[in-house]
Amino acid sequence: MKMIIIGAGPGGYETALLAARRGVEVVLVEAGPVGGTCLNEGCIPTKAFCKNAEVLDGLREASEFGVTGLSYGFDFKAVVDRKNAVVEQLRGGVEGLLSHKNITLVRGKASFKDSHTVAVEDQEYEADYIIIATGSVSASLPIAGADLPGILTSREILEIQEVPGRLCVIGGGVIGLEFASIFRSFGSEVTVLEYCKDILPRFDTDLAKRLKQSLGKRGIEINTQAQVTSVSENDGVYEVSFTRKGKEETVVADKVLMAVGRRANLDSLNLEHIGIECTRRGISVNEVMQTNVPHIYAIGDINGLMMLAHAATFQGIVALDHIMGYQNEINLSVMPAAVFTSPEAASVGLTEDECKENGIPVKCLKSFFRANGKAVTMGETDGFCKIVVAAEPKEGADSPYEPGRILGCHMYGPHSSDIIQEVCALISRKATLAEFKDIIHTHPTLTEVLQNAVHS
Ligand code: FAD
Repeated sequence: MKMIIIGAGPGGYETALLAARRGVEVVLVEAGPVGGTCLNEGCIPTKAFCKNAEVLDGLREASEFGVTGLSYGFDFKAVVDRKNAVVEQLRGGVEGLLSHKNITLVRGKASFKDSHTVAVEDQEYEADYIIIATGSVSASLPIAGADLPGILTSREILEIQEVPGRLCVIGGGVIGLEFASIFRSFGSEVTVLEYCKDILPRFDTDLAKRLKQSLGKRGIEINTQAQVTSVSENDGVYEVSFTRKGKEETVVADKVLMAVGRRANLDSLNLEHIGIECTRRGISVNEVMQTNVPHIYAIGDINGLMMLAHAATFQGIVALDHIMGYQNEINLSVMPAAVFTSPEAASVGLTEDECKENGIPVKCLKSFFRANGKAVTMGETDGFCKIVVAAEPKEGADSPYEPGRILGCHMYGPHSSDIIQEVCALISRKATLAEFKDIIHTHPTLTEVLQNAVHS
């Protein structure tokens, strides 16, 4: 079997590797560096910055742990160099993996010639199946000043050479908040402007409200229900205008980060030519990532279903298994998500609000990191955990879930991104609260926050 995969991000390269190991002959086309957004300008470089932020915060709090007399400097160039070294190391690893004998890595921009043929510069490649994994790019607001040189995207802010004194972040979603948290730790005065009622619009509202307070305590000013109307620049200083509850307000900043979401990267693929259906979100796919042209699949950010690296990878497995007739039990709706702010937040499964909107009866079990021994020893007690469990429907009413089924978990606090994985495993295996209660957690660990919630 011959396959072309367009894009070598976590969707494309992981699928290429799996296909190659299964004996498929793969042509993998990549216009930029392998690893895609995730490795080169997304997950990995931001998490390298997060580590620097954590080290700095730790130094600031050192006296609370009896460490006194410390004096330290902050060399931002070294921070950027370290981030670049981390990216390079991992990119080298991916390049090594892609040297598999069944993979031909073609450098250049791919576009469709016909539904079985892809052109890359003056070469053409044919295949039985084609997987599109071209990812996404930063979106912008259609406002005056949006294209001023000091308005940065997430890609550009990773390349800045000095820490801005004042940073204004337009957008209180995952990417905006991660940079707000990082640059606050680096010493910037940070203001976030979010259009919606709460930050993290797709997350549990309880979690979003509490995380907003927590970030506020760290000195990050977060304005919700703030509609940005324009940006102007004068002598390198930016004025971001916004309206809130009918009032005009402004934020003055040295740099502005535009973090208002991402859009599917459909450019230059020539999809109209082969009749691939798209919506505003991206390429339309069915539950196995197949487009309306049956031998063409679209995985990852390009289909706009769930813009996360692990979503791209697992959608790739689902697509490949469908092509090859393999069975799996992957449930793409149980997709964990993390926000690498300080403190971290994480979420999996249904939120309480979603259950209410859909008439699903639930009970919510909560616990707090301040009651967790390990969190107290770490001095990181800010955080909470909420587990959503299906409840008995009222008499005469129905529920799609049997009472006791674990439906979701939403939390913020230290290491939430790791802790959530346990609940993710249980939800994907359709476990119940009774089964969860039987699981022993090591003491003292942060995971006991889950045990405390289920026994609450
Ligand atoms: P991409 O990773 O975008 O890869 C697509 C590839 O296709 C690119 O390499 C591109 O060059 C190539 N390409 C595009 N067009 C063509 C063409 N015509 N021909 C050839 N090649 C082409 N997700 C997480 O899960 N966790 C995180 O912590 C996280 N942090 C993030 C932080 C930031 C700042 C950003 C921007 C994103 C973050 N994400 C995170 C999201 C994650 O990066 C994406 O969801 C993921 O990279 C999507 O993978 P993909 O394979 O669909 O596409």
